[in-house]
Amino acid sequence: RPMYYEYKPSEIVRAQHGPELRCKTWEAEAALRMLENNLDPAVSLVYDELIVYGGAGRAARNWKEYQTIVRTLKTLAPDETMLVQSGKAVGVIRTWAHAPRVLIANSNLVPAWSTQEYFDELDRQGLMMYGQMTAGSWIYIATQGILQGTYETLAAVADRHFSGTLAGTITVTAGLGGMSGAQPLAVTMNDGVCLVIEPIDARVKQKVREGYVDEQARDLAHALELCQQYKAERKGYSVGLTGNAATVLPQLLAQSFPVDVVTDQTSAHDLMDYIPEGNLDEVLQLRQDNPAEFKRRALQSIVKHCQAIIDLQAAGAVALDYGNNLRGQAEKGGLRVRDEHGQFLYPGFVPAYIRPLFCEGKGPFRWAALSGDPQDILRIDRALLETFPENRMLRRWIEKAQAKVPFIGLPARVCWLGYGERAKFGLIINDLVARGEVKAPIVIGRDHLDCGSVASPNRETEGMQDGSDAVADWPLLNALANCASGADWVSLHNGGGVGIGNSTHAGMVIVATGTPEKAEQLKRVLTTDPGMGIFRHADAGYELAQQVARERGVKIPGWK
Ligand code: NAD
Repeated sequence: RPMYYEYKPSEIVRAQHGPELRCKTWEAEAALRMLENNLDPAVSLVYDELIVYGGAGRAARNWKEYQTIVRTLKTLAPDETMLVQSGKAVGVIRTWAHAPRVLIANSNLVPAWSTQEYFDELDRQGLMMYGQMTAGSWIYIATQGILQGTYETLAAVADRHFSGTLAGTITVTAGLGGMSGAQPLAVTMNDGVCLVIEPIDARVKQKVREGYVDEQARDLAHALELCQQYKAERKGYSVGLTGNAATVLPQLLAQSFPVDVVTDQTSAHDLMDYIPEGNLDEVLQLRQDNPAEFKRRALQSIVKHCQAIIDLQAAGAVALDYGNNLRGQAEKGGLRVRDEHGQFLYPGFVPAYIRPLFCEGKGPFRWAALSGDPQDILRIDRALLETFPENRMLRRWIEKAQAKVPFIGLPARVCWLGYGERAKFGLIINDLVARGEVKAPIVIGRDHLDCGSVASPNRETEGMQDGSDAVADWPLLNALANCASGADWVSLHNGGGVGIGNSTHAGMVIVATGTPEKAEQLKRVLTTDPGMGIFRHADAGYELAQQVARERGVKIPGWK
């Protein structure tokens, strides 16, 4: 894909730090810095190709379009809005000061055309770009972004199956990329042992360097020995193994290795990004020379991989799907992945562990310091603990994050907050900016994987109580509601997490600039946005969401 390389800036792209503006507003400056941050080589997966994470999730369509976006943001007037279509700036419209500065639509296709194959063809022609969730919407904050969700999910697994801790258990998973790389640290933060399999040796080494993996094993025997040793000592420890999950998982079964939890976060959602079994150099060459054969072999390996997870579950492990559509792809490959009632043989992490949080409007809320100074994040951490002193989970997360999570790119913090909490804390952050207690404005956003912003039948909306899994009106309403409420940039994507055609989702970002007007906008947006999660789940019949709506005064038409 040579066009990606043309017009690449001579200087490496990194987010500018500090109080100096290159744009006419902090909102446009924030969008520019977050775009730069997504591409920062310390943050992005394949810098040269503008790939941020999640298979081929890009920040801009190519370097030429990146340069155009940068120029447009720098000249954007305070009452103008830039329109981005699949990573390309296509228009500037006159709006008004409190309207979004950027509106983004990525990877969307008319439903009947929304297949990976059709998308790939348009991508090849340079007409589209895969935006994943936060890559093309410029609110990716490196691996930390997923870490808390993974940590809380595993804490829920520990609560339900292992009396509150993963100590003395072994979790086996795969993938050490952008998001998947959070898994080993999330396990050790829950005091468990993690074996993580990744075919690209450099990625294993990188995650050891970054502190996400404790040790790289020499080979499988060494890996298993380390796991057994730390399991016996009941110590949190993570072991990275260079290998292919489709090969290693059946080996674990053959050796009756005691696996307590099994999951996976390889990029299985796109067959071009799942690495099939075989010699790595040869399969990567095959991907270039014969994509159709590569995909056939990827699907074959996915079937083997998924079957091994089903077998490990049968052997006693707790199995969960980690949102990469491995089960859906294996089904396409002919594997029986559902029971006679149509339910998946092993559950997705959302219906199994996360949905009750969604019913309270909770989700992966996050903020980043435009100053570039980690002290700003630590100041906000302090405010967070003072604001929610009764929240034990939150305290535990912040303490663990401060001790173990490195800042990569612009310093940032992810923190699952719910309806009411987000608006309250957004105002506190705005106040810290106003009082100069942090050195520059703070960007506030969230993942598209949130309570009321995504329709994804194999992931976030799997097994909805009323059968409304595939109803995609909700994320569309979410984007519209955030525009109407005054978010600073809003995005609408297709295919994040689980691949083209399998999901529709929306994102929002708002910048706490410290002004009184911004306080009003923050109150509106940070109430509207998680409020969509309450509407969505209350409407689907979840009692918890209905109770939250009643208690917190969420207006639902037709209710007394
Ligand atoms: P990524 O592309 O950055 O990393 C995936 C990693 O998997 C790569 O390092 C790749 O080498 C490795 N891999 C590929 N085939 C493999 C195999 N056969 N065996 C072992 N490892 C293999 O992607 P990511 O950002 O880490 O995301 C991974 C997947 O998780 C994607 O499908 C993404 O959509 C999904 N995802 C899930 C969540 C969630 O909340 N559950 C969030 C974000 C992303």
